[in-house]
Amino acid sequence: MTGNAAHAGFAIEVCQRYSDVAPDRWPVSIKPLPDELLSSWLHRLGIANGIAPRSFAGVLGFGDGMWSPRLDHRLPRNVATLLCHQTHLPLGAISSMTMDGGAITAFLLPLRDNAHRNRSTWMQYCPLCLAGDEAPYFRRQWRLASRVSCFAHGCGLRDRCPACHAGVATFDQGELVPQHFCAWCRFDLRAVPKASVKAAARRLERAIVDICRVESAKGSAKVSDAVSRVLRTPVAADVRSGRTLTNLSTAARIRCFEALAAKPPDWLVNDMDGVDAYRRWMIVAAGGHDTLIARFADFLETHQGSPRRQRSLPAADRSALFAAYFRIMHPNGGHKGRPPAPH
Ligand SMILES: [Zn+2]
Ligand SMILES: [Zn+2]
Repeated sequence: MTGNAAHAGFAIEVCQRYSDVAPDRWPVSIKPLPDELLSSWLHRLGIANGIAPRSFAGVLGFGDGMWSPRLDHRLPRNVATLLCHQTHLPLGAISSMTMDGGAITAFLLPLRDNAHRNRSTWMQYCPLCLAGDEAPYFRRQWRLASRVSCFAHGCGLRDRCPACHAGVATFDQGELVPQHFCAWCRFDLRAVPKASVKAAARRLERAIVDICRVESAKGSAKVSDAVSRVLRTPVAADVRSGRTLTNLSTAARIRCFEALAAKPPDWLVNDMDGVDAYRRWMIVAAGGHDTLIARFADFLETHQGSPRRQRSLPAADRSALFAAYFRIMHPNGGHKGRPPAPH
């Protein structure tokens, strides 16, 4: 790592040269990748233009510290306009990378640049996702305390460098090094050993994600109830009682979800009216909303008694089934907007 004094000189030099050489548009523009977090895209953008993330903060008019994670939470209009202007990306494409808005923001891991034992860090990652990326990048969903595993790879997420135990700190990277290398010790995060999570805990995690997604369509009061119950899961699971989910390390949250998965989901449905409680219970029992829909489809196929029964339904039929399911689950027809599309 370069020293602070040497580094400060380097940052100022680059900043001045940059405004001279590229006043209208930065030489390289890169497209956001699926579910990419704004800070991840900013780090890649800076590196692609030959500027290390810590120096890129200066180009955008920011100082030291967690400049890019703070932009994930709130992107000032003038910075968004500058990024649009310099990269020619639409404003919507840039603002959609932030974590701004919606009940789900209650799950955001706090911005902490230290990594005390058993406490959360601001960022999680899946080593296998990073290893599979052509350009390794960080996902928006990795910022959420409600996520402890990777749905694609079935392994646990990580929130630290296994070599130096520091959290992810690309925002403070002073050299032109891709962001899958630890900013402090250069350990390659793609080589981190796989963390295991019990299948029952992964099913519970998916059910929680789906309950929040489905209830978002019903209005903020419903999803707020689900979110506050999930935030209190360390108490329900009898691990680290008194702490909220967002304050626990990923390893502690994995233990929390594993303990909770071994219990009935009373914590999620206590004191609720029948229909709402039933829907949550069904999603948890099925291990996720899509699984529930698939089982419902199988049930209908089995009981329709048609001699031309098909093993899998065409997409149009699945959409119709989805709509039918929603009518059953929402007998008052009170939900706003369309139900989420089946995968
Ligand atoms: Zn993964
Ligand atoms: Zn490290």
